[in-house]
Amino acid sequence: MLALAGGWSWGCGGGKTTDQEARWAALRDEMVATQIAARGVRDANVLAALRSVPRHLFVPADVRAEAYADHPLPIGEGQTISQPYIVGLMTELLEVKPGDRVLEIGTGSGYQAAVLAAMGCNVYTIEIRVPLAREAEQRLASLGVKNVHVRTGDGYAGWPEAAPFAGIIVTAAPERIPQPLLDQLKIGGHMVIPVGAFYQQLKVITRTGTADFPERDVIPVRFVPMTGEVERRP
Ligand code: SAH
Repeated sequence: MLALAGGWSWGCGGGKTTDQEARWAALRDEMVATQIAARGVRDANVLAALRSVPRHLFVPADVRAEAYADHPLPIGEGQTISQPYIVGLMTELLEVKPGDRVLEIGTGSGYQAAVLAAMGCNVYTIEIRVPLAREAEQRLASLGVKNVHVRTGDGYAGWPEAAPFAGIIVTAAPERIPQPLLDQLKIGGHMVIPVGAFYQQLKVITRTGTADFPERDVIPVRFVPMTGEVERRP
């Protein structure tokens, strides 16, 4: 199920595809084929979502031409939107399905949240930087994305009123995993999170029981640090 199939009519003319839209769509298809599928991401729902979400509308105008390139991009406030492959990999590792509730820490541009929404998930996303949170919320509203809830604040405490979550994705790196996030993971659910200071590991933590959280390392990564409460904890 693609909640947003056909929903990205950002051009004018009642759904008519303009030449420019067709060019962006072709770049998106190429991005998915050469950067994401070619590197092993297989989940059809993930690949379809990445083909449908207009990444170029989530980046500042001055870097728009590079929106589908194989690297992260600045989104203001010293923050970045992840490389497309990392978004695809992390989304696949979450193993979520349509209708699942997903928590994201680090809304940034709103792109990762839009990808999860396009997969049919109900997304709860928290951003600590006020201008980014506001901008992401407006962007998602203007694109007609309805199943994303944006909150401004420190994601350390998670979103207890909406817990438990089938998946938790953290897109800023803490040195240690915040306990409240582990507490809000559903049994059987996965958390995908970069952990570390300068050198970080992308980890998948699976909650297999009330107090059982086996984890595995996936690849070394480089994310902006998670700020706020987590930096003050011993
Ligand atoms: N997922 C984003 C990219 C995120 S960049 C996208 O698709 O565009 C990481 C974001 O995490 C930054 O915007 C940063 O401000 C935010 N962040 C850092 N620490 C945070 C915290 N404690 N709680 C919530 N957001 C945080």
